[in-house]
Amino acid sequence: MTMRFVHMSLEGDPNAEPAIVIPECTLCRAAFQPVAGDLAELREKAELWCLDHAAKSDEAHRHHTGFRVNVTMHWRVVPEGQPPGAAA
Ligand SMILES: [Zn+2]
Repeated sequence: MTMRFVHMSLEGDPNAEPAIVIPECTLCRAAFQPVAGDLAELREKAELWCLDHAAKSDEAHRHHTGFRVNVTMHWRVVPEGQPPGAAA
């Protein structure tokens, strides 16, 4: 058996579903409903949703300023020189 060292890289998985960014208010549990898009675009939309949600006050005159953010991304390790998405 012959073994050799192979350089590997980590990259976004082009065959996986898109990234998801879901902020949830820690006070009332309201959550941003994500739409398809790239990660930077999703993050910007999620941040705007948080700022908008925090700007409103509830019946007790509280502003909801805390958020739990769940981010789901898919990565894949690929041997150097292999085209993205070729690894199974
Ligand atoms: Zn809230």
